[in-house]
Amino acid sequence: MRAAILSAALVSAGLFLAAAAGAQTFDTVLQGGRVMDPETGVDAVRNVGITDGRIMRISSEALTGKRVLDAKGLVVAPGFIDLHQHAQEVASSRLKAFDGVTTALEMEIGVPDVASFLQKKDGRSLINYGTTASHAAARALAFGQPIHEPTIVPPSGNATNQPATPDQIKAIENRLQQELDAGALGIGMGIQYTPGATRFEVIQMFRLAASRRVPVFTHVRSFGLIEPGSSIEAVSEVIGAAAISGASLHIVHINSSCISVALDCISLVAGARARGLDITTEAYPYIAGMTAINSALFNPGWREKLGIGYDALQLPDTGERLTKERFDTLHAEPGNRTVLLFMNTQEMVDAVIAQPLVMIASDGEDGHPRNAGTFSRILARYVRERGSILLMDAIRKMALMPAQRLEKSTVAARRKGRLQEGADADIVVFDPTVVADRSTYAAPREPSVGMKYVIVGGTVLIDRGKLVADTFPGKALTSLQTGK
Ligand SMILES: [Zn+2]
Repeated sequence: MRAAILSAALVSAGLFLAAAAGAQTFDTVLQGGRVMDPETGVDAVRNVGITDGRIMRISSEALTGKRVLDAKGLVVAPGFIDLHQHAQEVASSRLKAFDGVTTALEMEIGVPDVASFLQKKDGRSLINYGTTASHAAARALAFGQPIHEPTIVPPSGNATNQPATPDQIKAIENRLQQELDAGALGIGMGIQYTPGATRFEVIQMFRLAASRRVPVFTHVRSFGLIEPGSSIEAVSEVIGAAAISGASLHIVHINSSCISVALDCISLVAGARARGLDITTEAYPYIAGMTAINSALFNPGWREKLGIGYDALQLPDTGERLTKERFDTLHAEPGNRTVLLFMNTQEMVDAVIAQPLVMIASDGEDGHPRNAGTFSRILARYVRERGSILLMDAIRKMALMPAQRLEKSTVAARRKGRLQEGADADIVVFDPTVVADRSTYAAPREPSVGMKYVIVGGTVLIDRGKLVADTFPGKALTSLQTGK
């Protein structure tokens, strides 16, 4: 009798709750998925209610939605945020979406013209986007040799190789101020692509970033083992500039900037962080790099510095390995041709990816498999096959850590990288037993598999594994969102 009363009470309480929940009908409900949030540590079967582009409710109670998506047996996680994505056209954004990326930003170098970039993408982007202000482009402009999209790295020449005069440094600063006013999320510095920039010029740029309270994102000055000009020296230079200026610092692709001493470079970042500096870093899970063959990275002496020969260079798509003669021809060509550099070992890449300090970013460019496969490769190779990263830590490296890196630049980032009530509904729903990269050096444009739903700002972009046509829910992330 007692049990019956109790259960009657439970039934009526249950009905009451169901009625209360039923009072609210969400735009979309993700039903019965394994909800994972790296910030709170929540890892449980929950229903997620989405309305007006936000996560409004996460509950074990049933939720009512205009549309209900079955997430049973699938992981429901915050969409991945790629801080380092060069290719920003629709074809690449499609590949990013299949890889679980809901926000892809050009932070390493930055675009040559922030306002025109933002205007061109407005209402036409599959996923969220943003950029830094480009030191290299501002420098090219100050030298009277401006570059234009889609070029981001100036060809090797005076604007990259000569020191700037005090007037030119002023002009670079003024241009960067304008670009930050236009919404840039930081200052991008590919120092290796502007070897003429003195240590003092670099420090001045860090001071400007500090005064605007935005981070510097940098590809460091040089890499290799030979002193002077080693990876250790190059990483020390930017850590020093951060300490001197007070600017926050993000060092891009520590895997390819430090190669065989990548773990030592990470220890420099860890040491600086332990002394209270705001310094972060990232890596991509491939042994080859890729860059413009006419850039200053290939200034004389590159083979000795990098410890590689011509045969470490490979043309994307054709697979052609270069000779001295072929390299000389291509290096002298104008235009935007890129080349793969096979220079790292799988053992080193695997060790770097597993480091807790290291977030994942793709350095995505057309012609390299990382453009399409980086994030799914982490879930397939490192979480599922090798077991070297826990699933929750992978989500932390791919969503929460990049969001936290962006919080100094824009308040909008506080609502990203989290699967929480109040967060933006940028969400991936994937099968952890199936998710995998498929792109290779020979076939670099193969979409990843395993994403059942990808939601951007509440809009379903990938639906039951298929891209929804003519849907452009991507929105800009800009520093203007801070009210700064
Ligand atoms: Zn780079």
